[in-house]
Amino acid sequence: MKEKPLRLHKYIEEVRRINLGSRKTYQIRTFGCQMNENDSEKIAGVLEEMGYLAASDNEIPDFILFNTCCVRENAEQKVFGHLGVLKKQKEKKESLIIALCGCMMQQAGTLDKIKKSYRHADIVYGTNKSHLLPQYLYTLLTTGQKQYFAEPVDQEIIEGQPVKRESSIKAYVPIMYGCNNFCSYCVVPLVRGRERSRKKDDIINEINSLVAEGTKEVTLLGQNVNSYDSDGDFTELLYLIDRQCDIKRIRFMTSHPKDISSRLIQAIHDIDKVCNHLHLPLQSGSTKVLSEMNRKYDKDRYLAIISEAKQMVPEIGLSTDIIVGFPGETDDDFEDTLDVLEKCEFDFAYTFLYSKRRGTPAASRKDQITKEVKGERFEKLLEKQNSITLKKNLSFVGSTVKVLVEGASKTDKEILTGRDEANKIINFKGSPDLIGEIVNVKITSAKTWHLEGETNENI
Ligand code: SF4
Repeated sequence: MKEKPLRLHKYIEEVRRINLGSRKTYQIRTFGCQMNENDSEKIAGVLEEMGYLAASDNEIPDFILFNTCCVRENAEQKVFGHLGVLKKQKEKKESLIIALCGCMMQQAGTLDKIKKSYRHADIVYGTNKSHLLPQYLYTLLTTGQKQYFAEPVDQEIIEGQPVKRESSIKAYVPIMYGCNNFCSYCVVPLVRGRERSRKKDDIINEINSLVAEGTKEVTLLGQNVNSYDSDGDFTELLYLIDRQCDIKRIRFMTSHPKDISSRLIQAIHDIDKVCNHLHLPLQSGSTKVLSEMNRKYDKDRYLAIISEAKQMVPEIGLSTDIIVGFPGETDDDFEDTLDVLEKCEFDFAYTFLYSKRRGTPAASRKDQITKEVKGERFEKLLEKQNSITLKKNLSFVGSTVKVLVEGASKTDKEILTGRDEANKIINFKGSPDLIGEIVNVKITSAKTWHLEGETNENI
């Protein structure tokens, strides 16, 4: 694990010197997961150190970066679509610098496609290389040479990068990077490398700095947080953060059912700061499909974990990820997924249509499911989950929940919005002074996507 090398400070200073005296602006478009959102916050931090300002909506910036995702096909198509549009912007403003980074750039064939069809891109680099952006930018600005890199994933963890946070109330804190699981549909291990964990002290220091700046909630991030391993495991890390950090709330994602332990569920129960919420991707309710996905748990094991969680933490909020239409999925397999949905009664489910990802075993299977069948199953799944979500939300009416107030509603300044421990969105009338506070809200009505309530009490 290395601190930011000195020579990178040199490039930051050099670009800042080049920008001195002129107003330079940037825009970042982020695709994909929370890990990418956190990477983009670091990129924004480094750009601002180099003298760039966030661009307003009605100007063509001097620097545009797409932080890309290749986990799903539509995110990838969107990037190429937006990149095509940028060609016109570059014709209007020749000095515009276009950069692309992230998972998609790490995939075999992407760089060749950019070289062939999108030559207006100036800088291209993959995951875990954003600390080198000042060097790429300096070289481009001083030599005019395009900076295209598609190197193997760097396993290093670079600490001490500047971060421009999107929120002053909540923050993402990565605790580990990469994944060793090789689920048969997923490209993450190919584009983000093997698992490596941050040192406990670096995590604690980051959280304590956030607390000093007024942050109330941290979400600990990792492709599989249960695999955290640095002089202790994930559960020990939670207890350590509880002891050493004065943070109000701790969330974490994502957990893998094959690695989740009773100790972790006990920690959710024991540690007041850890929110009563568990996001546990199911992916499929069929034991046969789970085995073909290489998930290393079966339907019964998944149900047993959820039952244990509900028993130990009765008020726990549950959410999940589900893929519909994995190759070879039969009607019976799909019925198993619906069955798990009914038995678990998730508060929320992120549902996805299976899409082929280059380089994964599932992509080369001959028994792909047709678009029509996938679409029908998807609708059925959504309908069932939405009715479960609404039913669960309605059961909250009349109860009081603790809400971290995140801001005012975009459409009505008198309405505040925030989340309870289970991660449900709660809207209620209140003074802007409550933003950033945790308040008691009595739930008065429920919709599928949010709850409404009223408050007169500050906790
Ligand atoms: S656990 Fe599976 S789905 Fe999650 S990132 Fe790793 S390989 Fe992908």
